[in-house]
Amino acid sequence: MTEITRDVVVIGAGPAGTAAANTLQEARLSVAVLEARDRVGGRTWTNTVDGAWLELGGQWISPDQTALLETIEDLGLETYSRYREGESVYIGREGEAVRFTGDIFPVAPETEKTMVALIEKLDTMVAQVDPDRVWEAPDAEALDKISFEAWLREQTSDQEVIDNIGLFIGAMMLTKPPHAFSMLQALQMAASAGSFTDLVDADFILDKRVVGGMQSVSQGLAARLGDDVFLEQPVRFLEWSDNGVVARADGMTVRARHAILAHAPVLYSRISFEPPLPRRQQQLHQHLSMGLVIKVHAVYERPFWREQGLSGTAFSPYELAHEAYDNTNHGDERGTLVAFVSDRLADGVFELSADERREKILDSLSHYYGPEAKNPLVYYESDWGTEEWTRGAYAASFDLGGLARYQKDVRTPVGPIHFACSDIAGAGFQHVDGAIRMGRTVAAEIAAEIIA
Ligand code: FAD
Repeated sequence: MTEITRDVVVIGAGPAGTAAANTLQEARLSVAVLEARDRVGGRTWTNTVDGAWLELGGQWISPDQTALLETIEDLGLETYSRYREGESVYIGREGEAVRFTGDIFPVAPETEKTMVALIEKLDTMVAQVDPDRVWEAPDAEALDKISFEAWLREQTSDQEVIDNIGLFIGAMMLTKPPHAFSMLQALQMAASAGSFTDLVDADFILDKRVVGGMQSVSQGLAARLGDDVFLEQPVRFLEWSDNGVVARADGMTVRARHAILAHAPVLYSRISFEPPLPRRQQQLHQHLSMGLVIKVHAVYERPFWREQGLSGTAFSPYELAHEAYDNTNHGDERGTLVAFVSDRLADGVFELSADERREKILDSLSHYYGPEAKNPLVYYESDWGTEEWTRGAYAASFDLGGLARYQKDVRTPVGPIHFACSDIAGAGFQHVDGAIRMGRTVAAEIAAEIIA
């Protein structure tokens, strides 16, 4: 069993962990990054499947995600825009595919009026929420007691409005049904992206991709750490005291002054802490849970939808695949669609055989793009719910009442143990940008403490 000593041991080599370790190294502190998997990148994973190069995890960047954009520039990586020429498709309650341009779905005029008014109201409420300090928002406790769905029902009886606004935060972001998270959690999600309007604007939130794939951000950061990244080293035990930590992984032990847990909070309980974490942390960690979404890639000989004047962007709260986009790779002649199946609908299709599931999902895509969508050359479902070191997608969020009660301590260090992950970020919450922000912030705090 190898035993090494460092200033800081970082547990997890995703965007948060690799960013933290770089900041520590820049402050001339020694680090060891222990990663459970045989690769770096965590929930960002760029892989070739049946000859198709696919982004199996996180991939898009919005213009406000400056920590990520700076990192991309610093690593010498390039970005390119998501394809968005042409018309989008919306399928409403009647089940008919309707083409549209702009942000507002082509719904009946009264429904549109109600949707626009509700989005304005949400923008006003979101403007009063600091995503890092949500408990201080006006009426935080009351807003954390009511589910997003129940709040929407108080605003309107128009079911299509409820379904669409619910979709924006539910299936499309937190990947939980809108009855399973609070109005306050919905506001934080939107505040983390600047506003509700930004969050629902696909051209903003899904603006750019990284040439070479999002995983190359973590790979680039890890390369700078050289031999200080250790793969296939799941940390099982963490002993801690005022004097520091001892992290025991499968093949090695690291003694350090500080530890950073740089992974999803639902995995904290995979580590045996000695002594156990305090009551507050043991409790609050139980109130965070992962959403569930299947990210589906379908690769075709050519991007046939473009020939029909379609951008590839498609939405419907009534379809199995509630959103889909053109995900054709930079410089690729083949056409790629990416689609998402969320929460209860994902549960439903996971009960089917793989062939039945594929047929149902492709059938849903055909409702947006026509029958050609049913015959891809390559088809792949990213299923992060079965990944031992992630347990869901995209990220974790609080249950009803959890955010107002616990957010203020979600990042509070416990002795030498610090927490950094996109799932506990304010700005960039649930995104790679938030992971990098968290990693940098926590590392800077540790560096300041050690240097003082
Ligand atoms: P992770 O990426 O989860 O990395 C944590 C690492 O810690 C993992 O490598 C894990 O193996 C390791 N680990 C866990 N426990 C241990 C242990 N005990 N010992 C050692 N190692 C451990 N974000 C965007 O910005 N844009 C998107 O378009 C986007 N789309 C997404 C699509 C999907 C399907 C998914 C799953 C995520 C998506 N995200 C997106 C979210 C984004 O990928 C995450 O927010 C980000 O990767 C989180 O980074 P992290 O470092 O905090 O955690």
